[in-house]
Amino acid sequence: MEATSPRPYWRKCSTCKKTIGFNQTYWVCSVSTCNRIRTGLVFCSVACVDAHIPMMNHRDAGAFEKRSPTEGQFRAQQSAAVAPAAPADSPTPARPAAPTDTDQEILTVVSKVKAYVREKSAMNTSDAVMNRLSNHIRRWAMDAIQKAKQDGRETVMDRDFR
Ligand SMILES: [Zn+2]
Ligand SMILES: [Zn+2]
Repeated sequence: MEATSPRPYWRKCSTCKKTIGFNQTYWVCSVSTCNRIRTGLVFCSVACVDAHIPMMNHRDAGAFEKRSPTEGQFRAQQSAAVAPAAPADSPTPARPAAPTDTDQEILTVVSKVKAYVREKSAMNTSDAVMNRLSNHIRRWAMDAIQKAKQDGRETVMDRDFR
């Protein structure tokens, strides 16, 4: 990975290292291992896809045309990926706000959940699990907020969680 400071292009071509700008056409290899989210290879031209195919010993590989994200989309993805999950004991905002990103975002520390599952079972954890878990947390939190309100408190306590 490169420095985290903003840069004036989206990615670099995996073959020739030419920069690929925002909101422009690029190509990817049709082989799935070249397209994993973390390692995803991107190419500035069909020629650069072709150039990498013999190097990777692909059979039946081809080029797919794609369009890079706009700069705004890209920055939003970056900050979503980089932002650490809130620690469990972080203070809850005092009053409920209008619907925000926290209504959708992942509330769990993904790496810790995955590590726990792996340690207990040697199994992998699907990323979709984090959405489901976060929805549970939101539901529990809303229940707990209700109880605290009924008690006339401004602090949600551990006893508010069943
Ligand atoms: Zn290239
Ligand atoms: Zn490939």
